[in-house]
Amino acid sequence: MPLKLCLDAGHGGYDPGACANGLQEKDLNLFVALHLRDLLEHAGIDVVMTRETDVCPVDVEGLTGQERVTKDLQGRCDISDAANVDWFVSIHFNAGGGTGAESYCELGGEAIHLAPLLVDACALTFGYHGEKIKDGGASGANLYVLKNTAAHAVLLEVAYVDSSDAQKIKDRVNEVAPNLFKVLVKTLGGSVPVDVPQPAAPVQTIVPAVVNTNDYVTKEELKQAIDQIWKDLSNGVIGRSIGEHGDALVTIKTENGTETVLAGSVFDPSNPNFKGV
Ligand SMILES: [Zn+2]
Repeated sequence: MPLKLCLDAGHGGYDPGACANGLQEKDLNLFVALHLRDLLEHAGIDVVMTRETDVCPVDVEGLTGQERVTKDLQGRCDISDAANVDWFVSIHFNAGGGTGAESYCELGGEAIHLAPLLVDACALTFGYHGEKIKDGGASGANLYVLKNTAAHAVLLEVAYVDSSDAQKIKDRVNEVAPNLFKVLVKTLGGSVPVDVPQPAAPVQTIVPAVVNTNDYVTKEELKQAIDQIWKDLSNGVIGRSIGEHGDALVTIKTENGTETVLAGSVFDPSNPNFKGV
């Protein structure tokens, strides 16, 4: 049986997750998850996504508060269970003061073997946040998606958006998926293709013509700019992520591998974290 894996890009839609320094967690989670999906599928691993755009995976219209969150999270578990996957990997970025990577899993389960390796992969870029693994089960952080998925489940916190990690995220977020990919393929199987994309450095910041570095831009202007980049580089662009309010990230295939560019950011007056790049 070929290996099957569910990638969960945390948050999305109504829920931005952690926000700071012009970074929005739901966009980063999606960016890493889509990048990782592409790499894994290229290696022959069957990947199921809980979301592929900036949405909540299930309809939560009319719901609020805990009821909405629970339905959202159960929706992610249902997608994983319906696909009968072997592994569930939930990708998040952290906030609350601190630096580095950490993971959560049920300490008694199989995931305890994979979780520290995924943290090691993120720590290559961001370092560690204390212990590599924390108890995500009922006696610990009690994380819904870890308790309610049938698959072996890991929740990964890649780095902190609200600390000195933020600049590293902006500069080097493109390294995360390739590093996770190598660990997953090595640990879980699959044939590694000869042209495994290597993270390219340094990351360029491309500011499209319509985005003046001194001005804030509207979401529409940013969309147009990104669409233009998409068209101009249609042979090389392998992914893009534009959040409702957050940064626009574009991944471009280069001679050396892949490169992520921070293409712009929307200014949202209601949220002082977000400014034009
Ligand atoms: Zn999160």
